[in-house]
Amino acid sequence: MSEDLFEKIVAREIPADIVYETDSVLAFRDINPQAPIHILIIPKQKIRTINDIADGQATLVGELYLAARDIAKQQGFAEDGYRVVMNCGENAGQAVWHIHLHLLAGRPLAWPPG
Ligand code: AMP
Repeated sequence: MSEDLFEKIVAREIPADIVYETDSVLAFRDINPQAPIHILIIPKQKIRTINDIADGQATLVGELYLAARDIAKQQGFAEDGYRVVMNCGENAGQAVWHIHLHLLAGRPLAWPPG
């Protein structure tokens, strides 16, 4: 059995609204969206936090941003703008210990975030 929630989604053990997939990356809609478009982009391979990213995983992490670029283009909000953010650890509010980019779009996004 897979360990964490997102591993279960990768393994199709629990459902998700998947919008993008490559050999190494999966993206699906956040279950509790904070914007009209809120998509999570994850590596299929588990990495717990940014602190756990190995030097050899730079390409894999870069692919998360390529996925954000491609999804923005495919869904038509690339030119309007969007935000990608990754929380790391408790002070940032990380709740799922499998790194994920939040891709937020569809409304003006305030800065600084809370
Ligand atoms: P973070 O706080 O950065 O760890 O973000 C975790 C995100 O995962 C939150 O935005 C949750 O709404 C989202 N989430 C939790 N469970 C699911 C699920 N089963 N499917 C999709 N998104 C989820």
